[in-house]
Amino acid sequence: MLKNFKNIDKVIFGRGSFAAMESILADKRSENDHFFLFVIDHYFKGKDLGNRLPAGKEDVIRFIDVDPHEPTTQQIDSLRDEVLSSKGLPAGVIGIGGGSIMDIAKAVSLMFTNEGSSELYQGLNLIKKPGIYHLGVPTISGTGAEVSMTAVLTGPVKKLGLKCDWTVFNQVILDPELIATVPVDKWLYTGMDTYIHCIESENGTLNNAFSHAYAEESLKLCREIYLGEHAGQTPDNDDKLMVASMMGGLSLTYSEVGVCHALSYGLSKILGEKHCYANCIAFQHLEDYYGEGVAELKQMLATHKVTLPQGLSKGWTDLQITAMAEVAYNLPHMWLHAVGADCMKKITIDSIKELYRRL
Ligand code: NAD
Ligand code: ZN
Repeated sequence: MLKNFKNIDKVIFGRGSFAAMESILADKRSENDHFFLFVIDHYFKGKDLGNRLPAGKEDVIRFIDVDPHEPTTQQIDSLRDEVLSSKGLPAGVIGIGGGSIMDIAKAVSLMFTNEGSSELYQGLNLIKKPGIYHLGVPTISGTGAEVSMTAVLTGPVKKLGLKCDWTVFNQVILDPELIATVPVDKWLYTGMDTYIHCIESENGTLNNAFSHAYAEESLKLCREIYLGEHAGQTPDNDDKLMVASMMGGLSLTYSEVGVCHALSYGLSKILGEKHCYANCIAFQHLEDYYGEGVAELKQMLATHKVTLPQGLSKGWTDLQITAMAEVAYNLPHMWLHAVGADCMKKITIDSIKELYRRL
């Protein structure tokens, strides 16, 4: 199971590094039709960061509300079509926001050069041509989307990423000042995504020295941020969380996620639950798979007074539970890692339905 994975071309890390964007973009501006597309989380509309963009009047700026739903294939197709027909081919795409905006920027940069709907390219190495230059600036940390090889999209049939070497950002700017305003519940849910990435990466057949080293360091940082003597949303911890998120992403890139992510994909696809929140909802009930991790996650939530709902499955129909179990069942790479080579003998739609009934 050797992997030959593509890393980000360039990374700048540090407080205030957002200001470097102008010089980074300067020599790209002459490419294609000489303008940039900025996709920015709508939280920043009218805020200081929105006003500090190094954008010229020829650039296209789109503030996107990511709260109604996770990024969809249709959303990417419309954004691409609208920009191509009104302005032409951008010199590059700049994404400023959380995992949702990272994925929108990555996906649209690929779809500018690949014909048809993004739905056609959900999967591994289905993209035919390199996309255009793309730069990511995370403003909430945990998903690892800033470093990963995939742009996760929900399509009419599946929730699956556009995954290939060209998906990876050309440039990432990691400025911890940008995550200071994240509300405590989102800070926890998204941070717990990296924690769960590491626990799942560590506990499975595909774990190895490479994935282990990143997971170990990322977990150490998570423990300092959420449970340490100086736990909480401090500038020091924001620095650490940005690095932990990236390392969690690198760990799973060379290993795999597991049971929690399989269940989480079902919750997102069928019930529209957000990825990081859905992970927390599922992970709290997986003691038999990740005992110590579950106890520690609960301790982190309790320390920061964030509670998760219980008894959710009582409100779900058997049809919904079956549909979620089918989504989860169809992620064999996650079960292979979590359960082992004969996983598909041990894991059935019915056994996955039982896992959902715990929630
Ligand atoms: P998000 O982008 O969905 O944003 C969550 C919320 O935080 C939004 O309400 C947003 O407005 C707010 N927000 C963002 N930055 C803020 C700031 N600085 N201050 C205040 N509020 C801020 O969050 P996420 O949890 O980072 O991303 C989830 C998405 O990431 C899902 O769509 C999931 O599928 C995707 N994901 C992708 C990968 C990958 O490898 N590509 C991995 C995991 C998850
Ligand atoms: Zn995740």
